[in-house]
Amino acid sequence: MSLISKDFRSSQQHSHQKGYVRLRWTLLVITFAGIGAVVANTNTGSVQNNSELTVDTATALPAFEPVATTADDLARESFSLSLPELQARQKIIDQANNLNSKKWREFIVKPGDNLARLFKRAGIKPQQLDELMKSGDEVKTLRRIFPKDTIRVLSDDKGQLQALRYDIDHKSYLMVEREQGALIAKTYNHEIETRHTHASGVIDSSLFLAAQKSGISQNVIMELANIFGWDIDFVLDIRKGDRFTVLYEELYRDGEKISDGNILAAEFINNGKAYRAVRYTNPQNNRSEYFTPDGKSMRKAFLRTPVNFTRISSRFTVNRYHPILHKFRSHKGVDYAAKRGTPVHSAGDGKVIFKGKKGGYGKVMIIQHGSKYSTLYAHLKTYNRKLKVGSKVTQGQTIAYVGSSGLATGPHLHYEFRVNGSHRNPLTVKLPVSNPVPSRYMADFELSTSPLFAQLDLLTRTQQVALADTSINQ
Ligand SMILES: [Zn+2]
Repeated sequence: MSLISKDFRSSQQHSHQKGYVRLRWTLLVITFAGIGAVVANTNTGSVQNNSELTVDTATALPAFEPVATTADDLARESFSLSLPELQARQKIIDQANNLNSKKWREFIVKPGDNLARLFKRAGIKPQQLDELMKSGDEVKTLRRIFPKDTIRVLSDDKGQLQALRYDIDHKSYLMVEREQGALIAKTYNHEIETRHTHASGVIDSSLFLAAQKSGISQNVIMELANIFGWDIDFVLDIRKGDRFTVLYEELYRDGEKISDGNILAAEFINNGKAYRAVRYTNPQNNRSEYFTPDGKSMRKAFLRTPVNFTRISSRFTVNRYHPILHKFRSHKGVDYAAKRGTPVHSAGDGKVIFKGKKGGYGKVMIIQHGSKYSTLYAHLKTYNRKLKVGSKVTQGQTIAYVGSSGLATGPHLHYEFRVNGSHRNPLTVKLPVSNPVPSRYMADFELSTSPLFAQLDLLTRTQQVALADTSINQ
């Protein structure tokens, strides 16, 4: 792995992606809980990274690599070269052109850093920063630099900025060069090549260990778990012998893998039942989602209201006066007044994760939907007797009946909606969309996804044959 990959990794730290990354980690930790593999897994990851980095520094550039001959070429190539390589080549160019020698330097942005501080560290005159910031709209990106970003600057011995290169993200980079005395800024796109790859695995104890064994990165595992998370609980539903096949993209820049891309199609066989998903981009809005082979969304819908109510007796608030407890407390749900015994419906497909009494809430049922969402139903009179903790429920299914158990002034349903464990207002929360492929795009859907399903067929057949062989040999 060269600097490119490291830079890419640092560009992933950009703030708009941080929440996402954190969410994924939370999910990963949650999913690992009970398996006890968090520590083992983290260790393996860091060891692998370290060894890769060690190899990098030791590996010299291959001799046949074309050597940049002009300053322009060199500047453009400047991120694919190690710093000493870059300096050595700059020296050759400067000497050949009888120019004063200039020096490339690399700076890793620290927390609280800005360009002014960075220039000071680089020994570049402060006026140069003004000149740089006036060199065009393209340089505005430098106002928002992030810790661990890499910036390379070329300056002469008088402290004059000659060139600057900044990787904006894994798709584009900023290049500033001094041309005939003036700084010119341009944004270039990296050439990203997308390759397809696949992996299969059989589960022995957990999806994560099986996926690791098949060489799948954590990002792909998490994506796989997200896609099937509405249908399969990856902690509780997993059985020994469950298996998966995943077709996914790998992104390459300058011939080197920089990251995994999207999952294109996947199959998961859980307890003998096969689930399949494919990625499809709606040509109208350009949104990509995962669908079943017949075009249904892998994400499941939610009912906005889980009960036929007469009125909303209390809304979601951060602070309200509690009529029975006589004190101010927040109300983290919605109260729907309804006749005692009115059926309460599950807001979405999911699984019962709690059934029982919970203090002032009285009789409560909690349903988990996919990996992110859960809904809570309180003050119940009775439950649907067929449901136990672990039971699967479908959207609209009667799960209980309205009552006034616990601290309630009258019969009503207290309903809570949680996303990643935190309360959201059920009346306003943005519910996941789960529209099927629009009928006018079904032909396009079938045309574009059939090669992926054909490949999936082939891969799962190969896996089956391989598994059968192993069992014969044993
Ligand atoms: Zn309430």
